[in-house]
Amino acid sequence: MLVVMEAHATAEQIEAVCAEIRAMGFTPHPMPGPTRTAIGITGNQGPIEQAGRLQRLPGVSQLIRVTAPYKLVSREFKELDTVVDVGGVPIGGQGIAIIAGPCTVESREQTLNIAHAVQAAGAVMLRGGAYKPRTSPYTFQGLGEAGLQILAEARALTGMPVVTEVMDTETLPLVNQYADMLQIGARNMQNYSLLRAVGRTRHPVLLKRGFAATVKDLLLAAEYILAEGNPHVVLCERGIRTFDDSLRFTLDLGAVPLIKKLSHLPVIVDPSHASGRADMVIPMARAAIAAGADGLIVEVHDNPAFAVCDGTQSLVPEGFAELMQQLQRIAIAIGRPLIHNRITQSG
Ligand code: PEP
Ligand code: MN
Repeated sequence: MLVVMEAHATAEQIEAVCAEIRAMGFTPHPMPGPTRTAIGITGNQGPIEQAGRLQRLPGVSQLIRVTAPYKLVSREFKELDTVVDVGGVPIGGQGIAIIAGPCTVESREQTLNIAHAVQAAGAVMLRGGAYKPRTSPYTFQGLGEAGLQILAEARALTGMPVVTEVMDTETLPLVNQYADMLQIGARNMQNYSLLRAVGRTRHPVLLKRGFAATVKDLLLAAEYILAEGNPHVVLCERGIRTFDDSLRFTLDLGAVPLIKKLSHLPVIVDPSHASGRADMVIPMARAAIAAGADGLIVEVHDNPAFAVCDGTQSLVPEGFAELMQQLQRIAIAIGRPLIHNRITQSG
């Protein structure tokens, strides 16, 4: 349920509605808009019987039933796009944010090299896993805290905010200390205790779509985070598993405009994991931006043949620079600028 206030409703009237919602045993979520405030209600199972009590309060314009199973993430609840600020990079606004870096932090030298290379080409954020969710327990699992320290050094040297994966609630406090944005990987999209835990932080979260998750599953997973009070969520389409195994996954680009219709949260695309092949990354990335994605997260490696993980899908720095060139043209065509970093801005 959504209570829409009149345009001239006062702060006292808004608070009185919130108090009434609390008195009914539910939770109010006031959302100021450009012309009027709306107050979302959560905690109710089905229609609210005493809704008439709210309708009669001064300053209330109308009550709207929210039909979607997810509430706080829905467009019905909040009409305006959410912009998530990650260390000064706005994701979900007019500009397009390009995040790049290695699949995993392998060494200080490798990470710093790649960080400088992607920044020179125009990336605004650095990616890199210190804790890796690997399909096999016998493969490299990440450098752990040492990897987080390398990411922090890369951030200090380049000024780029860092997104890195948090795999479990035990390591969340540690990852929180280093990361500007917490990545929840595809394999953890429905790890509800982890979703709740990142929801209790106020850190930006990158929530990747599970490879067998529907759009509704993804939005409900995001709802867990918002329901704990953390509104700073960016969604990521990274390919799903279908009958076709010609590529690593099937990039579901239809999900991008669909999610933008259903939700106010920003959506970015990961063309690297979606395709699994470096030669597919540029065309998929172009299509993602043309389809309305708010950004990309791209794997880049300076020596893919020797990469510890995901080398086959990693662009070399020159390939990433080529991608950025091509995206410039798409960005102009769709009337959305690529967000600049401090190097591209001054150079
Ligand atoms: C990654 O970003 O390196 C990763 C493991 O992604 P996903 O969770 O989408 O597989
Ligand atoms: Mn990877």
